[in-house]
Formats: sequence, structure tokens, C-alpha cells
Amino acid sequence: MSFNEIIGNNENKQFLISTIKNEKVVHSYLFFGTDGIGKKMFATQFAKMILCNDKLQEKPCNKCKACMEFNSGNNPDFFLVEPEGNSIKINQVRQLMKTTLEKPIESSKKVYIINNADTMTKEAQNGILKTLEEPQEYVVIILIASSENNILTTIKSRCTKLYFNNLSNDEIKQYINKKLNINVYDDEIVKLCNGSIAKAEEVMQKQDLLEKVKHFIANIEKISKLNFIRQSQLLNDNKEDVLLILEYIYIILFYRAKRVTNINGYINAMKVVQEAINKLAISNNFDMTIDYMLIKIWEEINEKNNRG
Ligand SMILES: [Zn+2]
Repeated sequence: MSFNEIIGNNENKQFLISTIKNEKVVHSYLFFGTDGIGKKMFATQFAKMILCNDKLQEKPCNKCKACMEFNSGNNPDFFLVEPEGNSIKINQVRQLMKTTLEKPIESSKKVYIINNADTMTKEAQNGILKTLEEPQEYVVIILIASSENNILTTIKSRCTKLYFNNLSNDEIKQYINKKLNINVYDDEIVKLCNGSIAKAEEVMQKQDLLEKVKHFIANIEKISKLNFIRQSQLLNDNKEDVLLILEYIYIILFYRAKRVTNINGYINAMKVVQEAINKLAISNNFDMTIDYMLIKIWEEINEKNNRG
């Protein structure tokens, strides 16, 4: 793995590479942006480059001891912290910060990645703050967060901040084609991924299901109301994926709305789907919500179509 293989956020890539080449690595970074767009991959690659003992290239050498140990998950100068349960707790941080006092073993630096840093409790953040205020010269801490809102201002002010953008539709397509080795031609599927690599992986695993959904929505103007409502069975059989299915239906309707004469019918149907998504978030009345939604979208599209 090298930065070249990570898709998207090229400016950040260039910035991090030049930071290493020019020996401008600082003590603390905050990487933030939507979940699932590759922040952790960036941080891991950056850490590996910092620890590599051959810094003349734009990527880690993969030959030095530090690189070999990094690849096998045993680099003694690399630390990754993830939430335990829902949060990163003071005990996790306290033990970790103690290790910053010991000098690095293989490299000239020690790198600490704190993933989902916005889940740190306030105590945990204060625990880290002490290290950030007076870091050992060899310590580099990379905080990763989906938003900077939950991070203490006193921490943020000490970090170099890098904002990560969601991937563009083209970048998502590239990711699916190259990394997952699947050809996607379907704009609606790409849109469903919402610029997120993690979501793209989920979507690709559910391709068969989504294909069935697309088929029955595509036929909405050709099948009877009764047959359309029978499709509730498909949603019932895939309850755990219902939000993904509804999002997909919404997007299909959105793309079709641009090509049909009955635009208002499709726009109203989209509203109905959005209402169903909202309802499912707060109620367990699955069957009623889904049946009602199917009836309403069929009516919005077909009955208004007939009148128009
Ligand atoms: Zn190396």
C-alpha cells in the first residue's frame, strides 16, 4: 500500500508527502471528515512513512526493519487506539501516554493514531492534552474524527488540521472498479455510496438485493397497485437493510424524475420515501410504514400520471 493506491483527497496526500520529505512533521494532527472516506488509511500510511528509516522516496521502502515490522503489525513505535465500546476512556489514554516517555526503538519517532477521537470522554481528552502540551520531541499523535465538534478547543489549537472531502462520484467509481474489481455503470448505485468507501463496500455486498429493488421500482408504471404492494415481502425479508433499500428507492426516483413528464408525481413519491425513513427511525411499526409507503408512491406516480 502507498499513497498512490489511496483514492481521493489528493491535496492532503501531497501535503503529507511533502511534510515528510521536508522534515516538517509536527507533534499533533487532526484528520477530520465523514466516516468511511479513508482517513484511517491516510493516517496509517503517513505513520508508516514517518517510521520508515529510508525517507528519500515518496513511499515507505518496505525493506527496512521498521517497515517490515509495520507490515506484520509489530512495529514497537506504532500505536493505534480504537474506542472500547462506544468511547475511548481515560484508562486507555493514561496507559498510552505513559509510553510516550520511553524513547522509540526502531525509528527516530513514535506514532500514535487515535481513531474515532471524537468518542474520547472529556477525561480522556484531558489526559491526552498533557502530552500535547509538552510532547517528547519524537512523539507524533494523529487524531481521527468524523467531526471536530466534540474535540476540546485546547486540543484542536495544538493540532495541524486536515479536512478530508467525501469522494466524488468518479472517485467512487474508480474505487469500485479498481479495488473491488466490479464494473459499475449505474449512476444510482454510485450515488448511493455517498462518497464513502465504507458505504461502497457495503453497497457492493448487497448488489443482488439492490438489483431486485431497482427492478420493481423501474416497473412501477407497468404493474398493478396490488402487485406493487406485494413487493413489501422483499423489504420484509431484508429488514436489516431496509434503510439502504429506501435510500436506493429515493435515488432511483430522483434520477427518473428527470426523465419523465410526471415530475411532480415522482417528487411527491420521493417525499413519501423520506417520510418513511424518518418514521422507521423512531417507530417499530415496520409493516404499516412500508405498506403505506408502497401504496402512496404507487398512487403518486400512477394516479397523477393518468390525470396529467
Ligand atoms: Zn522503510
